[in-house]
Amino acid sequence: MSKITEPTYDYQIGKLTAAYKAAITSILAELNRMDVTEMSRANSSAALAEVATILSGLNAESAAWVAENIPLAARDGVVNALTSLKIENPGAAPQFNRMNSEMVKAAVADTQSDLLAVTQNVERRVRSAVRQVTGESMRANTAAGIIGRRTISRDILDGLRKKLGDSVNTGIIDAAGRRWRPEVYVEMVTRTKMAITHREATVNEAIDRDVLYGRISRHGAKDACANWEGKYVKLVPDATGPFPYIGDLPRREIFHPNCKHLVSPMRNPPADV
Ligand SMILES: [Zn+2]
Repeated sequence: MSKITEPTYDYQIGKLTAAYKAAITSILAELNRMDVTEMSRANSSAALAEVATILSGLNAESAAWVAENIPLAARDGVVNALTSLKIENPGAAPQFNRMNSEMVKAAVADTQSDLLAVTQNVERRVRSAVRQVTGESMRANTAAGIIGRRTISRDILDGLRKKLGDSVNTGIIDAAGRRWRPEVYVEMVTRTKMAITHREATVNEAIDRDVLYGRISRHGAKDACANWEGKYVKLVPDATGPFPYIGDLPRREIFHPNCKHLVSPMRNPPADV
């Protein structure tokens, strides 16, 4: 049996997370340039406009990344199916069948909207922090005059700075309530979407060739996936045989976020497993 390697897409994903890190660094620099001793609505509007520009550049970059890389994962998934089934692939780039064309379109849209949600989240948090800090700075200045000080106290200034920094540093909260740094979340989302796309492309190619079974790859996993390595699965629920349907496998154990396991199609799984 030919060795199927599990793609990691480390290089591509590294480029995307670097873009997020760079954008976050630029936003922090923009926030640090704000003079918290004397904030005005005009200054904060200018800073927020700059933040919006940085994020819209990031949105364009990540949309292009998704449009290029999701199809790449799908092509790798098709090649995985062809290699597993020992089918010669004459062209350099395999064609997508109808199921795969539809799947890739949906996966691109889905991933782009997940990434857009990340930048929208960052923008919302920064906007709210800047508004809050502007208000506090204005109030503190007025109060300093009443109290008879020339400037706002160091403690207040530090607090205002921290509030601005925290708006990008403390990260975003996912549906399960976990907190992520934006670039770590982006890495998890894209890695997971690439893996799902790869698997679905493999399954779609296999089914189109009347292949209804597959086997889960092995790499000596240490987590719950270990129980599933080398196991046979059905690619459609109503295929005959004593194997679980791939869509019913417990997601806590296999094909979880960041999981690298893939499925290799096979026409005839052994009868005695
Ligand atoms: Zn796994």
